[in-house]
Amino acid sequence: MIKLVIFDADETLWHVEEGYASTLVLPLRKVNDGLVIDAVGVKVWLFHGVRELLEGLRRRGVIVSLASANDEEPNKVKLLLELFGIMRYFSFPQVNWQKKSQNVRKIVELVREKLGVNLDFEEVIFIDDSEFNVTDVKNRCPGVKAFRVGRDIPSIALLYENLDSFLQA
Ligand SMILES: [Mg+2]
Repeated sequence: MIKLVIFDADETLWHVEEGYASTLVLPLRKVNDGLVIDAVGVKVWLFHGVRELLEGLRRRGVIVSLASANDEEPNKVKLLLELFGIMRYFSFPQVNWQKKSQNVRKIVELVREKLGVNLDFEEVIFIDDSEFNVTDVKNRCPGVKAFRVGRDIPSIALLYENLDSFLQA
């Protein structure tokens, strides 16, 4: 049974028109529920289905976290999560330049210690758009189911539609 799903941020939850979260220029401004714009006009779109997916996971009692390779200060990933109104879904989000496998291990430890959940790597899913990160997690966190969005998972919207079978896989 899957107990924890860890998402990458850039190009997994949202699309940054140019660069990545850390290269956005502050202040960021919310245009609508699916669009944030930075001080020089660079747009960030939340992918279709992300909100529904997060809500679907919450309803099923699955813990959701995040591992993003971006600057910790200023933390523009957390700003984006807040502006899109989805910050509350994420437990122990990690935004730093450490390897994804290190962050996955750290999040698993935090869930075990802080939430008192008995959690094995086999009960964890990791989703990222980067082959490098998916391979890193597969190699260094054996048992974790690491999927590449765009290949193993065609889109977040499709993942939401097939959520029950996905969580049993
Ligand atoms: Mg990414």
